[in-house]
Parts: sequence; structure tokens; C-alpha cells
Amino acid sequence: MKEIVTSSRTRDIIRKHRFTFKKSLGQNFLIDGHVLDQIIEAAGLDESRGALEIGPGIGSLTEQLAKAAGKVTAVEIDRRLIPILQEVMSPYENVSIVQGDILKTDLKQLWQDQFASCEGVSVVANLPYYVTTPIIMKLLEEKLPLENIVVMVQKEVAQRMAANPGGKDFGSLSIAVQYYCEPQLVCIVPGKAFIPAPNVDSAVIKLKRRLEPAVSVPDEAKFFHVVQTAFSQRRKTLANNLSAFSGKERKGELSELLLQIGIQPERRAETLSLDEFARVSEALTKSGMMN
Ligand code: SAM
Repeated sequence: MKEIVTSSRTRDIIRKHRFTFKKSLGQNFLIDGHVLDQIIEAAGLDESRGALEIGPGIGSLTEQLAKAAGKVTAVEIDRRLIPILQEVMSPYENVSIVQGDILKTDLKQLWQDQFASCEGVSVVANLPYYVTTPIIMKLLEEKLPLENIVVMVQKEVAQRMAANPGGKDFGSLSIAVQYYCEPQLVCIVPGKAFIPAPNVDSAVIKLKRRLEPAVSVPDEAKFFHVVQTAFSQRRKTLANNLSAFSGKERKGELSELLLQIGIQPERRAETLSLDEFARVSEALTKSGMMN
């Protein structure tokens, strides 16, 4: 039997089950085997490793994960897809299908239940684009024992995750991702690689989990609060945005503080490196401007 990723098998499955796509769930199924190969290779799986797939659809990626990994668990929100997945995945004993919303799933519990015997776990997915950022943030912030995340996302989102300071793409998403991971762009994927074809380009990005965060900060919550506040209005200077902490009356003091740590107050947030953000958050905390 042909692989699910082939256009003819995908169309057969869809026809047989009278499946109709739900745009609201970001349902664009991959039909390009070459892209699939690149995703699997980037994940670096083997028999000893597990894979968590988010949104398996009709199982094109799930099938390749089943061949490459020791254990695959796929979480799919759309109940209509569960019987289809159970049928097409029946030849693969190492696959578990879980119905649920990944954003509401207790991932620590899922790890214990599904991956206890695995030596390492990767998250591998063609993500639903309407919830890409919340999913990535949940995976990173819950500090799960995962080795890497290999995901298909909208091209612009991949560029923001991998951006360096100084450009228009660099923002709070770049900092959150790069704090926890080393990003690496794997490939750009045109709309015609999916059914139905989205009218945007996509990209596969690999986020390799760092053993330690990129910078050392005494309080992570404060660090990310400073980052969010610094980017709150991109056209404003750093000092203007950060005056949300100092209040207008102490803005002179805030500028002085920034100068003391070697940062010009009139710079824009997108020019600061992670290390500079760490210094800013530490200085603001010590000054008592942040509680
Ligand atoms: N993996 C399949 C492929 O590559 O062909 C399908 C990818 S499709 C872009 C995204 C999938 O995520 C859909 O099957 C959709 O139903 C599912 N999905 C959407 N939101 C979800 C959520 N919050 N939790 C779990 N799955 C979700």
C-alpha cells in the first residue's frame, strides 16, 4: 500500500471517510514525501527514542514517525479523525492516539504515561497555524524533558524564532525560543505541499533544547516581563517602554540605570541581545523598580 503522504492515498482516505477539512482547526495535510523525509531526519530519532506528535491529521507524519522512533504518541483535537487514525495506524504497534486539545493536555502526566521507557523525546509536528505560538510556549515553559522540537510553522513565524538582534523579525518570540533552544531553519515549504494549499509559505524549524538557558537570570518571570514590556510598542525607545516600571517621575533615574550597565536608553528593544536583556532585568530588579 502507498504511504499516506502520497497525494493519491491521502485523497483515497479523505474520500473513503467523507472527511471535510475544518479551516478553523488549521487542517492542511502534507502531501510531499521529500519534506516529510527532512522533518524525520532533523528529529534524529531511533528505536530508543519517543516522539510526541501534535495534530496528526490523517497520519502522514505519524506513519513515518512510527517507522523511525520506538514510541509515538499523537494528540489530535478533531474527534472525526480518531477512527481514521486508528484504522490507518493499525499496522503500527508503537503508536498511541490520544484525543484532546494539546493546550489543555497535562503534558507532564502524558510524559510519565507514554514515554517512561524512552531515552529521549522529540516533539515533531506540522502545527495548526492558528495556535503555533501558544503551543511552542507551552512546550518550552513547562520544562519538559524533551531533546528537540521539529515543527512546520508559517514561514514568518520560523523567521521570527530564528532572528538575530537588529532586524525587524527579532522580538519577544525570538528571545523566548532562543533562551531555551538553539533554532535551526531546516527548509522552506511552498503551499502546494499541502491539501488544501494554504496561501502562505511554511517552514520547518528545529529547536534544539539547550542544557542550560542561553543566559543566566535570577528570576525568569521578571526577565520575560521586561522583554514583553520592552517590545510593547516597537517604535518607542527602550527607556520609553520601560518607564512602565519606573513611572514617568523616575524616568531620568531609569535612563541613568541603563547607562550604568552600558545600554543607551534611546535604543530600540529589537537591538538588544539576550545578554543585554538579562542585564536590564537584573538592574531593574535591584533598583526596586520591579517588585
Ligand atoms: N500532521 C498532519 C499532516 O502533516 O498532514 C496534519 C497537520 S494539520 C496542519 C494540523 C492538525 O492539528 C489538524 O489535524 C488539526 O485537527 C490538529 N489540531 C488543531 N488544533 C489542535 C489542538 N489544539 N490540539 C491538537 N491538535 C490540534
